[in-house]
Amino acid sequence: MDTHEVVNQVPPLTGHDVADEPALLDGLAREGAGWAEPEVRELGRLAGTEEAQEWGRLANENPPILRTHDRYGHRIDEVEFHPAWHELMTVAVTHGLHGSPWADPREGAHVARAAKFYTWRVDAGHGCPISMTYAAVPALRQAPDLAAQYEPLLAKREYDYGLRAPLTKNALLAGMSMTEKQGGSDVRANTTRATPAADGTYRLVGHKWFTSAPMCDVFLTLAHAPGGLTCFLVPRVLPDGTLNPLRLMRLKDKLGNRSNASSEVEYADAVAWRVGDEGRGVRTIIEMVNMTRLDCVIGAAAGMRHGVTTAAHHAAHRKAFGRYLIDQPLMRNVLADLAIESEAATVTMLRLAGATDRSVRGDAAETAFKRLALAVSKYWICKRWPAHAAESLECLGGNGYVEESGMPRLFRESPLNSIWEGSGNVAALDVLRAMAKEPQTVEAFFTEIDRAAGADARLDAAVRELKTSLGDLETIELRARRIVERMALALQASLLVRHGHPAVADAFCATRLAGDWGTAFGTLPPGADLAPIIERATPKLG
Ligand SMILES: Cc1cc2nc3c(=O)[nH]c(=O)nc-3n(C[C@H](O)[C@H](O)[C@H](O)COP(=O)(O)OP(=O)(O)OC[C@H]3O[C@@H](n4cnc5c(N)ncnc54)[C@H](O)[C@@H]3O)c2cc1C
Repeated sequence: MDTHEVVNQVPPLTGHDVADEPALLDGLAREGAGWAEPEVRELGRLAGTEEAQEWGRLANENPPILRTHDRYGHRIDEVEFHPAWHELMTVAVTHGLHGSPWADPREGAHVARAAKFYTWRVDAGHGCPISMTYAAVPALRQAPDLAAQYEPLLAKREYDYGLRAPLTKNALLAGMSMTEKQGGSDVRANTTRATPAADGTYRLVGHKWFTSAPMCDVFLTLAHAPGGLTCFLVPRVLPDGTLNPLRLMRLKDKLGNRSNASSEVEYADAVAWRVGDEGRGVRTIIEMVNMTRLDCVIGAAAGMRHGVTTAAHHAAHRKAFGRYLIDQPLMRNVLADLAIESEAATVTMLRLAGATDRSVRGDAAETAFKRLALAVSKYWICKRWPAHAAESLECLGGNGYVEESGMPRLFRESPLNSIWEGSGNVAALDVLRAMAKEPQTVEAFFTEIDRAAGADARLDAAVRELKTSLGDLETIELRARRIVERMALALQASLLVRHGHPAVADAFCATRLAGDWGTAFGTLPPGADLAPIIERATPKLG
């Protein structure tokens, strides 16, 4: 007996090109990687398939399992994953989202990679080892002998899973081990000791409180050597094929990011190779941290785009009170406001990826710009994501609160990028540090913003006010978040004014700079031109 007809439900958001987004494709070309559009779109079409989305769901609903011992009681310290995890990793690696831009001489290679990392957003968890592998390369280059051996394998577009001696494998993945129980942000409080051995290697004794993706082949690790805090390369398996004594104690039971294994590790005399000089550990590993910070920004921008497109899709197909939600004025205000935030994040992350690409090629001005703009954007874009995710979820009403919609997973993921690689306060203080120690970064930052000078009076006024506030050093640490927020908004506005759709730029300046706005999303002023903004956020089904 049929009790009722199922009507007014939204069709699945599948079968579309996730990369079909004007802000992404225009930015890709603008930042020097227009040549990569076919690859980005190919990945976009894959990300839009039901199969890929199912991998994301399965990898999260079947989280990794730690196997410390085999059935006979020998330590194995392995993590077992659902097959969907391996599918996700295979796509990411074969599309070059990991270390491959370092082996690609084409201008824009890092921009292309950023666009692909943004597009392949069916699961955030596997992005962690992918991102760390990308980020490890510049730090590893401080040990040229090690880099010569390992870098080609970190760049190889092949997924070779399993614990084996690294140099016998076809391709490698890298992780990062900094955080200890007594000190995360404050890595100088680390207690892990590194003792030099007669053969030039070191032996590590101690622990790490967070080491994500422990099935990676090698880890950049901080430990105290006789000369001070030092960076090391630590392999999971030694060249003779025996396990390096890295004991996986537990996996973390986390709010989100559940497909990814985040472990607690103990080093019981583990073999390590030094990267960079003794005592220069932070300087060395910061090269890696900076690259993962870029990925925090890209991941947050991707999460916001996923949220707003899901919300717009829902609103386009769901009726309430006799009309589609997308036609109702107040829902249009919410969708447009979410879309503005998302576009601002996307245009900024692409600008940062462009700066990264040019910095890698030796452009000093872009290096200075990236130093400050990345810290500013890491703070602000990651900070905006949880509020954005909550509002996107609410656009689906009760359906958004149900796991099957995928929105709870997005929501649980959203606070993480702000915590990773320097939580909010640490990121804001890093901005102050950069401005104080490297004044050329301030000049580069404002040179970029000033390229939009005269184009919008609200932006001009905001920049004037911002520059004045930087001159008052008395309470600057207390005001750090306030300052960084305004720097981020000025940067985003300048990029939107120069490169964005006029309706997006106008609504952004009216609200985020001129204060014609409420506290929640959905409070754009009456004059805002919502139609083109919503149109850009609504996915086109094939
Ligand atoms: C899912 C997950 C995976 C992770 N994976 C890894 C990994 O693979 N490798 C790794 O090394 N780490 C990893 N981490 C650790 C992560 O990088 C740290 O948790 C993060 O850097 C914050 O350090 P903490 O937890 O020690 O917090 P704390 O340093 O104790 O900070 C606590 C709070 O105090 C604030 N704070 C700190 N200093 C100041 C200050 N001077 N003034 C004002 N406020 C301040 C911080 O912003 C934060 O809000 C992971 C964390 C998570 C959640």
